[in-house]
Amino acid sequence: MTCRETKNLLTAYVDGELDSAGSLSIESHVQGCALCLAELENLHALSSAIQNGGLRFKAPHRLKKNIAAAIRAEHPKAARTFSGWRWASALAAVVLIVAVWTAAIRWSTSSEETLLVNDIVSSHVRSTMANHITDVASSDSHTVKPWFAGKLDYSPPAKDLTEQGFRLVGGRLDYIDNRPVAALVYQRSQHLINLFVWPSTNTGIKAEDELTRQGYNLIHWTKSGMTYSLVSELNLTELRDCARLLRE
Ligand SMILES: [Zn+2]
Repeated sequence: MTCRETKNLLTAYVDGELDSAGSLSIESHVQGCALCLAELENLHALSSAIQNGGLRFKAPHRLKKNIAAAIRAEHPKAARTFSGWRWASALAAVVLIVAVWTAAIRWSTSSEETLLVNDIVSSHVRSTMANHITDVASSDSHTVKPWFAGKLDYSPPAKDLTEQGFRLVGGRLDYIDNRPVAALVYQRSQHLINLFVWPSTNTGIKAEDELTRQGYNLIHWTKSGMTYSLVSELNLTELRDCARLLRE
């Protein structure tokens, strides 16, 4: 390959446009030709200078201001509309971000609550099916309440509501949301009621709520830093009576 042929193909070589036979010819020629090698190095240097962006300039702020002022002077109405439109789109973007954020928070809160509610219903069902409704069986609150001492770092209430038609059956340790909680068991005719009590944390559960899941009614509330969750297959009206008596 002659110097003339090589020079004609050098830019194509630097840009990676030659096939392997062409590239090999260039490479073997520049190994023995200092002139063409120098030419090749120049081309490489130019190529990397362009790629590194050293030739790109940002318009100075003053120039932008001058152009905007010139547009305003020429078309006062158009300029105003343009800037109004820009504000509107900026506002729309902010509204969209806020809406997406709120929806994300709501979704995560509601899915946390769903998990917790499922946990509560499962614990209730397990307790009624596994013949392990109580760890301490007594309708005496002075027996049930002290039983929890040393097992939990809080003291759950163990209100006896026998006279009001909700007999205290006893208490039990249960697990909800991966932690031990107090379960107080009441009975109304043939229906069992579990009252789960644990210190309130940010579990995603609403402060006050009534809901029905898988045929079970749930009422929960918070009071003095504790969360209470009452669950039973008992109808909602009677379960509400029970909740009201427990909260009094
Ligand atoms: Zn040469």
